[in-house]
Amino acid sequence: MSAVKENEFQSSLDAVISHISTRQESLDEIPILPTAQSITSSISSLPISLPEKGLGTSETTDYLIKEVLPGILQAQNGPRYYGFVVGGVTPAAQLADMLATSYDENVQVNLHQQTASTAIEQRALELVLDLLDIKRSVFVGRTITTGATACNILGLACARDHLLSQSPHLPHNYSWARDGPPSAPGLPSPPLVILSLHPHFSIAKAAALVGLGSGPKIIQQIPADPEDELAFDLGELEERLKAEKEVGRGVIVVYGVGEVNTGGFGRDLDKVAQLCKRYGGWLHVDAAFGGFAGLMPELKAYTQDMDKADSLTLDGHKWLNIPYDCGLFYTRHTESLTNIFQPPSASAPAYLASNATTTDPLSGGDSPEGTVSAGDVPSPLFVNIENSRRFRALPLLASLLSLGKEGYRDIITRNIHFARSIAKYIAESPSYDLLNPSPPHIKDHLKEAIIPSNIVLFRPSADSPYPPSDPTSSIRLTKKINDSRRLYVSATSWRGQSAIRIAVSNYLTEEKRDSKIVLDVLERVGKGEDVAYEN
Ligand SMILES: *Cc1c(COP(=O)(O)O)cnc(C)c1O
Repeated sequence: MSAVKENEFQSSLDAVISHISTRQESLDEIPILPTAQSITSSISSLPISLPEKGLGTSETTDYLIKEVLPGILQAQNGPRYYGFVVGGVTPAAQLADMLATSYDENVQVNLHQQTASTAIEQRALELVLDLLDIKRSVFVGRTITTGATACNILGLACARDHLLSQSPHLPHNYSWARDGPPSAPGLPSPPLVILSLHPHFSIAKAAALVGLGSGPKIIQQIPADPEDELAFDLGELEERLKAEKEVGRGVIVVYGVGEVNTGGFGRDLDKVAQLCKRYGGWLHVDAAFGGFAGLMPELKAYTQDMDKADSLTLDGHKWLNIPYDCGLFYTRHTESLTNIFQPPSASAPAYLASNATTTDPLSGGDSPEGTVSAGDVPSPLFVNIENSRRFRALPLLASLLSLGKEGYRDIITRNIHFARSIAKYIAESPSYDLLNPSPPHIKDHLKEAIIPSNIVLFRPSADSPYPPSDPTSSIRLTKKINDSRRLYVSATSWRGQSAIRIAVSNYLTEEKRDSKIVLDVLERVGKGEDVAYEN
């Protein structure tokens, strides 16, 4: 007997669709967290070990919907989930993701006479550049990854090989990917360092994984500008770049666009890029979510020089509201990607060869410069970590097409306005202190705005029932807010003290409906009221 009965699939599909559509309609009302009891019963419903005999599709689907799913986050993609930076799922992206699963195509080799999928992936990556007004020809090395962490791994790996290939102490074109960790008389130890300011935690993971090391000797903090804790002190940066060049040590400068606690921006990305160019540093820009803030015209100045990066990290599954997982990696040095992922020393098996032979049906005469034709798309497995890969481009393409530039500009702008209205309340409330730094350039440039973009950083005030003198205050208050199950915030630490963040990145968030609910909870919790909601 076949394990999958046909009629079972149809009826289960109906059940799934009905569940999804009911849920979608009530996403703004569903309590965000499951109850403690739902979590417990979900876990205790799991089989202790794998049963010999399967349940079949219908019974399994029914079991998931009724018993398992009630125990997970009920509305992480709803309009009032403000933890981390998670984004939601646009309707077109959600449907396309379901279709991608249904086709289950493995997008790893460019077989363009057999499938359009690699060309579709390439075009989706190009459309993201269009969204950001970046010329396609700038970043011809591009690939879709599992997220910004994977992009940061690719960025540091490319930087590592590129920088060592130029080292004055090593044979020309030395490659770590090919030759392993370098050693040579006069080669400084460590041979490479990372200079940064508030790098995202994933940079340390990436540095550890690509063999650079993640300790303080490798990832070095450049002092902040005395007037702006999110901007490099450019004088210090130049000194360091110069000194490292003199000893022949490679430098990767990691520049964040959109700091994850504050949503803030340093300024002078163009000057940092110039310094990197002058002293031979590799500029890796981590713009996971903040790279899209520039869709709001008044923030364009903070993102417009991303095209000067050697490598660029963006996330699809955050502010673009594409489902997990989806990251977007770009580099101007395509060869550094292929050196690593298509090692000439390990010639790929013949069955992985692409069939790039004919001229391309897509490359019309009027395509923008830098548009890659179907036959020329590198096989994804030769520019990326995975061999077998999900067709992540389909939901990305669908979402971009369904919304257009205008639709995305609208999401970004609405989210930022929403966050700013909450920040205004926080700043005026006796129960809270707003912590977002507001350096002079933000004040001059953004005039009315008291926070730069979509993240509100705050803590309970000294006059509140949760005074910051008690180090557990912010964590206790975070729990109180989240126990309301009507909004979700996350705890963090800023300037060594605990704090709370509200990060707004979901297309569903609506000022009219949601700010009332958010302000009501914040107001009551701030006065010490208990707003826990069971049920
Ligand atoms: C979220 C984030 C990351 C990590 O991204 P994942 O998609 O979770 O892997 C890296 N850098 C920045 C700036 C981020 O905001």
